[in-house]
Amino acid sequence: VSLLVPGGLTTGQQEFRRELRKFLGQQRVRKAVAEIARRPPGAEPGQLEVYRWLGERGWLAPAWPVRYGGLGLGAVESALVTEELVLAGVPDDLYVLSIGIVGMLLLQAGTAEQKGKHLPLLASGDRFASVLFTEPECGSDLAALGTKAVRVPEGWRLRGEKTYNQKSQFADIALCAARTSPGPVAQHGITLFLLPLRSPGVHIEPVPGMANERFNLVVIDSLLLTEADVVGEVDDGWRLMNEMLELERTGIDFHAKARRLLDLVIRRAAATGKLAENAYAGPLADLDARLAAGHALAWEQVRNLDAGRPDAVSSAMAKWCASEQVRHILRMASEVCGLDAVLSAWDDDAIEDGQLEAAYRSGPGHRLASGTSEIMLYLIANDMGLL
Ligand SMILES: Cc1cc2nc3c(=O)[nH]c(=O)nc-3n(C[C@H](O)[C@H](O)[C@H](O)COP(=O)(O)OP(=O)(O)OC[C@H]3O[C@@H](n4cnc5c(N)ncnc54)[C@H](O)[C@@H]3O)c2cc1C
Repeated sequence: VSLLVPGGLTTGQQEFRRELRKFLGQQRVRKAVAEIARRPPGAEPGQLEVYRWLGERGWLAPAWPVRYGGLGLGAVESALVTEELVLAGVPDDLYVLSIGIVGMLLLQAGTAEQKGKHLPLLASGDRFASVLFTEPECGSDLAALGTKAVRVPEGWRLRGEKTYNQKSQFADIALCAARTSPGPVAQHGITLFLLPLRSPGVHIEPVPGMANERFNLVVIDSLLLTEADVVGEVDDGWRLMNEMLELERTGIDFHAKARRLLDLVIRRAAATGKLAENAYAGPLADLDARLAAGHALAWEQVRNLDAGRPDAVSSAMAKWCASEQVRHILRMASEVCGLDAVLSAWDDDAIEDGQLEAAYRSGPGHRLASGTSEIMLYLIANDMGLL
């Protein structure tokens, strides 16, 4: 795969990507990826050895300082890791949650003690973190969250329910948003906490879903936390959550997932002779162009991050653009592959380890995860003065 990075890469960055690709092409990595694809339902990947192998080289969190297990590089190298991992078929969800969201927020807003305690273990791939924001009664409208943290002499007592979080069953800690102060403005009075998931007051239950990656309901039942578990300032969680979304929402991961699928469909069209027919070549070229545009938009966000100027509106465009293409690609996959597209990984005739079948089940989630398509359009329209 040759993805041209808009703005180009320095010699060092090109070398970094070559090394990454070499590593991800190793037999042991290919074997691990194939083994994950063929796992039975429910046996989803969690703490992967591949993450630890990357962690040993400082490649899991290359933008973090060396003392926290990184390489002191920048947003470009982080994006290259995400892109290459996804293109190589390595599941990226736990990595994105741990490093891209929780770890990055700790790096920006955590205390020296929180950074020293958690970041090196996250960067080495030995410990993982999940995100507890969404609740049964609130997702897009997060300011309406009902989880409460009440001040007590020992610190804070938390009660509430968080749903649709992923990977909490594998993670050690979670970033949890809770209401600490009531008030007329819902966005005020929310605080972020680092919560130990393996605690008697935390119960994790599966929530049924279509995709291989399970959702969880996390019930927090009278969990006692201390001041040391608060991330940032008390009542300043809303601002931090928004900053965090700007760091996470580049669209790089969504684009790479879409690109991997489209390349597969194009390979099948070539192998079956359909690529020579206008009825297939036209729509595939159209999708290819849309993904190229999505790639350029995603990399613009990475450049903005590197320059310390994240932009919430253009990152909403990048996320929307990349995640919306998956359903068009999957429709085209049925045209090109027919019913073979829905053969799962456990079928001997499955196409490339059943990637398409898995994508029919996980694809709808792309429009919802990390902010829904409608919310992205709302952010864009609002900025354009259309509302
Ligand atoms: C794959 C995946 C992984 C996830 N991982 C996590 C995780 O790790 N941690 C976590 O906390 N959460 C996670 N989520 C939850 C996710 O953040 C929420 O699903 C999302 O924010 C939407 O919230 P909701 O499901 O409550 O839907 P709602 O907010 O109830 O929305 C329902 C529908 O209404 C639309 N809608 C809502 N408000 C508006 C509006 N103002 N204007 C127009 N349309 C609107 C939405 O776009 C959507 O189509 C994950 C979700 C998915 C799919």
